[in-house]
Amino acid sequence: MGAIHKCKCNSCGYEVEMPPPGIIDRGFVAFYKSKLCADCGDIVRVFIGLDKESGRYKTEMEKQYRFNVCQECEGENLVDWDGSCPKCGEKMEVGEVTRMWD
Ligand SMILES: [Zn+2]
Ligand SMILES: [Zn+2]
Repeated sequence: MGAIHKCKCNSCGYEVEMPPPGIIDRGFVAFYKSKLCADCGDIVRVFIGLDKESGRYKTEMEKQYRFNVCQECEGENLVDWDGSCPKCGEKMEVGEVTRMWD
């Protein structure tokens, strides 16, 4: 089960709903990770892979989605999000879970 948290920068007020930094957000078949997109200058939730047991879902999803690209701009300039605010560079606070998914 994956969990999306509300992450907030107390310095500039920037907010985003993301898996916590460094965590692989695992659903039933799909894995995501929060990354920083150099092109958007924003944190994005990136599809990084599928469970190898996912069988028929795997084939369907592989046709539909691309791995390791930004969902906003389709760019590949992604680095793992280290928890810092993309706007001001301060450490962001990971708050409560806003959404569970699988
Ligand atoms: Zn900030
Ligand atoms: Zn982007």
